[in-house]
Amino acid sequence: MTIAAVGEPSTVQPTTLDVDALRAEFPILAGSSRGKPLIYLDSAATTQKPQAVLDALSHFYASANANIHRGVYELSERATVAYDGARVRVAQFIGASNDSEVVFVRGTTEAINLVARSFPAITPGCTVVVSEMEHHANIVPWQLAGARTVPIPVTDSGELDMVAAEKLIGERPAMLAVVHVSNALGTVNPIAELCRMARAVDVPVLVDGAQAVGHFSVDVAALGCDFYCYSAHKLYGPTGIGVLWAKAPHLAQMPPWQGGGDMIDTVSFERTTFAPAPGKFEAGTPHIAGVIGMVAAIDWLERQDRDALHAHEADLLAHGTELLASIPGLRLVGTAADKIGVLTFTLSGVHPHDLASLLDADGICVRAGHHCTQPLHRRLGLPATTRASLAPYNTRAELDALAGSLNHAAELFAR
Ligand code: PLP
Repeated sequence: MTIAAVGEPSTVQPTTLDVDALRAEFPILAGSSRGKPLIYLDSAATTQKPQAVLDALSHFYASANANIHRGVYELSERATVAYDGARVRVAQFIGASNDSEVVFVRGTTEAINLVARSFPAITPGCTVVVSEMEHHANIVPWQLAGARTVPIPVTDSGELDMVAAEKLIGERPAMLAVVHVSNALGTVNPIAELCRMARAVDVPVLVDGAQAVGHFSVDVAALGCDFYCYSAHKLYGPTGIGVLWAKAPHLAQMPPWQGGGDMIDTVSFERTTFAPAPGKFEAGTPHIAGVIGMVAAIDWLERQDRDALHAHEADLLAHGTELLASIPGLRLVGTAADKIGVLTFTLSGVHPHDLASLLDADGICVRAGHHCTQPLHRRLGLPATTRASLAPYNTRAELDALAGSLNHAAELFAR
């Protein structure tokens, strides 16, 4: 979403979302923390879950729980139908042409590890172009596979240097692996443009969509990438489940990376053959309930007026940006023109961890540290920052409370 620069009139449309009704769907939001009403501003770490997801999980365990694929009894068939049907639903959700291109994994981290370990072009000594704003999950797996990670630089406002990107991609790395939306800055990267650059020189592209799918619709075909991955827990769904989407020819040439039940065709002591994708990548009993919960989250999200969610989040971002910019000694980090609801900052004279503890005493949940982006923080010359990350269930009043607590902290430490 595009926001006005600080001091300029907001370009955001008035919000039409019934925020109270939306909040009522999230039981945890009515709770408290440290004896104060809970103000949850850490949705980039994990989103809260609507009742629809909680119900789907408990309904599955109460009425359909069985292991999948090999049971001949009705209960197992029910679980199998739900699990296999989920793949079709996920394919629709991200614009994939075929459900066989959807691999269920533990989350974004596991998806990237799978590709780093199994994609034939990733060999010791190869180059993977990443960016300076990557989460560690999109750096370390490539390094473990022996690749050299070469970063696209990030500008002072927190955007990719696209001239440098084109040059690095032109050197034909084994992979371009880039984040769709930065968890630390909120920047929405121009993925379709990067994919066009990569396609021109036959470089495959993996997109880390962990922070994207919960904020706006994603269409992998329109983006033109080769791999896309996300975690359900940042999409109002359960932890421990996520998706790797990959183009079918890539999955066909990738060997399994874990062995066990459910991923085989035949097994003997002499030779084992494997199931076709996606089964060959899903060894062992999968997180069946997680898959059911993820589908409930997708169904829930797609029942919402997504334009209204988007407008409300943009309004919150504009309001929060304006409030924070007026706090003495506060420096906003990440001011890209296109960003999601992430407010990352430093406050002069206060360590981010101390600041997060002060906010915690007021019932406000934020994150402090490097947000698993140490190279980015090094680039910005900051050991740590504080991050308030928004979801459409947040309110202007919560941001007012955040600003009140920050002003108080600024006064305290200025003495
Ligand atoms: N990539 C980004 C941009 C993230 O924000 C995160 C989590 O914060 C991850 C990857 C890793 O996600 P997970 O821990 O769910 O595997």
